[in-house]
Amino acid sequence: MSIRVQSLSKFYGEKEVLSDFSIEIRSGEIYGILGPNGSGKTTLLKIMAGISPFDRGTVTVEGIDARSDQIAVRKIVGYVPETPYLYESLTPYEYFSFVGSIREIPKEIAERRANDLTKAFGMEEYNDQFIGSLSFGTRQKVSIIASLIHAPKILILDESINGLDPQSAKIFRDLLRSLAQDGMTVVFSTHILDIAANVCDEIAIMKTGKIVAEGKTSELLKERNLEDLFIELTATEDISSIVSALRGTLR
Ligand code: ADP
Repeated sequence: MSIRVQSLSKFYGEKEVLSDFSIEIRSGEIYGILGPNGSGKTTLLKIMAGISPFDRGTVTVEGIDARSDQIAVRKIVGYVPETPYLYESLTPYEYFSFVGSIREIPKEIAERRANDLTKAFGMEEYNDQFIGSLSFGTRQKVSIIASLIHAPKILILDESINGLDPQSAKIFRDLLRSLAQDGMTVVFSTHILDIAANVCDEIAIMKTGKIVAEGKTSELLKERNLEDLFIELTATEDISSIVSALRGTLR
């Protein structure tokens, strides 16, 4: 197993946002975490990335205890947050070498990786522009490339595909598949169900800090599509009655 989460609980103040949560993710697997806003996806991904503490349970990442050794976890994980914090006054190229030096990657290796990834994402033309001047999608690409500079064993992405144009999304999907084939574990959350259905080996659907469905994508989607399954398991109200109430209001 690459990531093992057992009986995890996480509180923000009095509120339990992950509750007796367990999940196992195999090495070389692409694992999708789905769920409505506020269901706990970001909190879970941050704990797996060694960024956020938790209250109860055990989390091991490649055998490392995420409670006692968060720093060791961070070394083997590449993490792309939903809203990446990037240095606005650096160019992507400067930023990648900065990340390479922090990660203690030899300069020429970091440069080669940055160049290859920049080319793959069609980003060369932006290499000398300030990050602050780039579009949302291009900034997402900068953040994804930066997360791969130290060739992590595990890549964790929080809603990172959402800003990509169709061509970059395809490059990214193909890249994820080839990284997973080379043994990298990929865990990502997304609201784009098509991507999850097409890319993930396994999927977990969350609702208010718990898993409501989990398993191999092919098994889960044998009899229905992901949108129907997602809505059936997570909707709190009947969608058709919401829509007809809205039509009444807007008429
Ligand atoms: P998701 O990623 O599925 O939208 P989150 O993990 O961001 O869900 O949030 C889960 C719950 O935890 C939400 O109710 C959210 O309001 C709450 N929450 C998240 N971060 C904090 C925080 N720093 N302080 C207090 N509550 C938080």
